[in-house]
Amino acid sequence: MNDSNAIRYRLTPFDPAGHRLQVQMTIPAPVRQGQILRLPAWIPGSYLLRDFARHVLTIDARCKRRKIDVQKIDSHSWRCAPCTGALTVIYTVYAWDLSVRGAHVDQSHAFFNGTSVFLQAQGQEIAPCLLTLEPPPASAVKAQSWKVYTSLPPAPRHKLPASGFGRYFAPDYDALIDHPVEMGTPISARFTVNGAAHELVFTGQIPNLDLSRIVQDVARICAAQMALFEPDACTESATESAPGFAPFLDSARRYVFLVMVTEDGYGGLEHRASTALMTSRRSLPTLGQAKSAALADYQTFLGLVSHEYFHTWHVKRIKPAAFAPYNLQRENHTRLLWVFEGFTSYYDDLMLLRSGRITLDDYLKLLAKTISQVHAGCGRLKQSLADSSFDAWTRFYKQDENAANAIVSYYAKGALVALGLDLLIRQQTQNRRSLDDVMRLMWQRFGKNFYRGRPQGIAEEAMPALILAATGVDAADFIARYVDGCEDVPLADLLAAANPGIKLRWQAAQSAPVLDARVRMQNNQTLLAAVQEGGAAHRAGLSAGDALVALDGLRISDEDSLKRLLAAYQAGDAVTLHVLRRDELRTFTLTLSAPALSACVLERD
Ligand code: ZN
Repeated sequence: MNDSNAIRYRLTPFDPAGHRLQVQMTIPAPVRQGQILRLPAWIPGSYLLRDFARHVLTIDARCKRRKIDVQKIDSHSWRCAPCTGALTVIYTVYAWDLSVRGAHVDQSHAFFNGTSVFLQAQGQEIAPCLLTLEPPPASAVKAQSWKVYTSLPPAPRHKLPASGFGRYFAPDYDALIDHPVEMGTPISARFTVNGAAHELVFTGQIPNLDLSRIVQDVARICAAQMALFEPDACTESATESAPGFAPFLDSARRYVFLVMVTEDGYGGLEHRASTALMTSRRSLPTLGQAKSAALADYQTFLGLVSHEYFHTWHVKRIKPAAFAPYNLQRENHTRLLWVFEGFTSYYDDLMLLRSGRITLDDYLKLLAKTISQVHAGCGRLKQSLADSSFDAWTRFYKQDENAANAIVSYYAKGALVALGLDLLIRQQTQNRRSLDDVMRLMWQRFGKNFYRGRPQGIAEEAMPALILAATGVDAADFIARYVDGCEDVPLADLLAAANPGIKLRWQAAQSAPVLDARVRMQNNQTLLAAVQEGGAAHRAGLSAGDALVALDGLRISDEDSLKRLLAAYQAGDAVTLHVLRRDELRTFTLTLSAPALSACVLERD
């Protein structure tokens, strides 16, 4: 690397109480006509325009000690007046977004994604970047005990101190924004999988966290995923100095799980050598707790870990052509999110099973839940999976009260398509091939050499040919019907044909009659949250947002009281409902429905 053309950044959480970060950026050779600086409009992996630039509070530029004019030219960009010589830009960023997508700073920690804090010098996107991370002022926090946690590698020939505050290196801007950073006093542990280094980092107060149990479980999940993609390169004899193959070793020294723990948080975002996660306190095991205790919530956490780690291969390396490279200034449309989020959603829980973290019965329950979820909404009969992927930006990420009637999830139905393809391939090849072969072919063809030579993504129409090449199975008709069309994946038939010894049936989730609407509480009011198209509430004229007051003259005080009242009736009975809409009392006559057979059950023969 030639240090002299590197863009330098120096980041300081200078005002933790005010949630402010300061960044000093130096561009050695600014564009002559006036350097344009910009922040991404979105963060890869989360398909919504977020306009991170709105959190930039102040921005100043200097060249040879002279102040340079800086003008905002669109929602995300600034233009500096022309200058010759190195351009230094100093700006402050407000960081109070507690999510995996943004930046969050207070007296206890600092977390940020590069998309929130690092301006890009337009036209210099491929220049190397040097980043200096500085601690907050000692007066603002107990700074001397803060440490840095990130997958970003140290600058060449630079030895980082134990605290991690020092110089880091990224080969280009895309790499710089793909390694989130945590600073503070988290609980952490390091471990190796096939000789490849990993680190788990938990921020937040978690009394008696059973870290060794988590390390053991996460390591087994990581090993199962490495064995899926690179079965020959995973050896017990690998060491940290000679590790087996792991995709993140191309861009980092170790893989880092950055976990923010809150009361009821949930979410994750994938990066090339790390992931940012949010999870609830109750999802984590504590010391002395029986192995079986709180299993469901812990399974959810492990499923999230598994999901984001899988993305290290699938979406960070194997990508749709539309993401190679990303356009960070606008939406990047692709009809393939069902492959990237759907297949990942299929494999996340499957990897818990393969790594022995959950039993087959647990796995079947998780799968049945996904099947029930997909079938709950009639939006699946209107929007195809390919269209759901394409419209992620404006529909999946902007869901309203009508979502279940209007759209289908490329995560959940995508997982069912993956299961259906897996069953189809296994049946047609007498179990000699499976979806694993498709994953391995995509990895070898598109992912493995992504950082060597010209990155290539998967073309929009390429999946049938890839499946055929990997397995010999013609899935064109399957994809035409269940991905490009709106048909339900016929899982009961596919299970019967592939004969894995598992049967699918449907049962009612309850016995009492129903309104065919979802209810939620708000300000002590029982509100209709969503009304099922064609159901009892819809036919009666009720609407999402209506506040339920009384059923046949008896007060509805909350969701439970509604359930108790309904239990006295039978399907087909007509009831009178009093509701408030826009503060006006209205009366509706509703004919109660029989509960639908909406709960999927998967059973072993
Ligand atoms: Zn995902």
